[in-house]
Amino acid sequence: MSAKIIDGKKVSEITMDLIRDDVEKWVGAGNRRPFLKVVQVGTDPASTTYIGAKTRACKRVGIDTDTTHLSDTVSAKELKSTIRSFNNDDSIDGILVQLPLPLHLSSHDVIESIDHKKDVDGFHPMNVGRLTVDQPTFKSCTPAGIFELFRYYSIPVKSKHAVVVGASNIVGSPMATMLSRENSEGKATTTICHKYTKDLTQHTIGADILVVAAGQPNLIKAEMVKEGAVIIDVGINRIADETTEKGYKLVGDCDFNGLKNKASWITPVPGGVGPMTVAMLMKNTLLAAKKSIYPEE
Ligand code: NAD
Repeated sequence: MSAKIIDGKKVSEITMDLIRDDVEKWVGAGNRRPFLKVVQVGTDPASTTYIGAKTRACKRVGIDTDTTHLSDTVSAKELKSTIRSFNNDDSIDGILVQLPLPLHLSSHDVIESIDHKKDVDGFHPMNVGRLTVDQPTFKSCTPAGIFELFRYYSIPVKSKHAVVVGASNIVGSPMATMLSRENSEGKATTTICHKYTKDLTQHTIGADILVVAAGQPNLIKAEMVKEGAVIIDVGINRIADETTEKGYKLVGDCDFNGLKNKASWITPVPGGVGPMTVAMLMKNTLLAAKKSIYPEE
């Protein structure tokens, strides 16, 4: 079998065109342009790259944005007080604190200081909790983007056996929640695996849909999946490559070349899930501006 490629770049362009049209309608109706505030603590180069992509996406869809840069020695108190000032600023619709944070800061603590009504990453416990009880919420962008891909390519999820490898708060866990809920879009029978899972293959081999978000290059090989599985590779890993200008290349968590002759559908890295994550951030920011998730009384 030769897998069909899930083209996240193309679907994200289509999605962002629709969001741009919606933003223009919103502004045309006399509303202020949506505004996304990004907070970067320190100067981690990967974070700077991700923020660059988010800033370009904002420009593309007509959302205003700027980034507040704080030193990597900023105290938790100072960071949270800065966030609180953004919470209270009516000209800001969405707030995103770029992760990871320096080790002296607790990401849980910092995320909880963001007003959940402005939490466009969908990481605040209020939004995570609402996801688990099928209430309107800011959905974590990566899982939401994967569901957009399922919809675009008409990949059925209901009643399938979905296996998620990786259980982080930002990807694996919300992905498994969305897949497993019986009263929302997922309706799949869902298994979640993590680093303590014994015999990973015993689980992955049964997957109709396999979502991999472990941050381990080459973790999933052809012999670990069944013929015709749908493979969603979330991983983004930098590996050394002297033949490239930067000295590294990006790979996922799956052996793409081995799997492409066995899967029915597969996402490439780059160009698969990544661009959809950014598109979903734009969608959430527009939802925040429109107060669609949390209407004002
Ligand atoms: P994380 O490090 O927070 O979590 C990794 C998860 O994988 C953990 O639950 C861990 O237990 C599990 N894991 C690690 N090794 C494993 C193994 N050998 N077998 C089974 N499970 C294992 O990472 P994260 O933030 O969830 O990100 C995961 C990957 O996805 C990273 O490569 C990251 O760069 C990438 N990512 C991509 C996007 C995107 O938009 N494409 C967004 C976020 C993260």
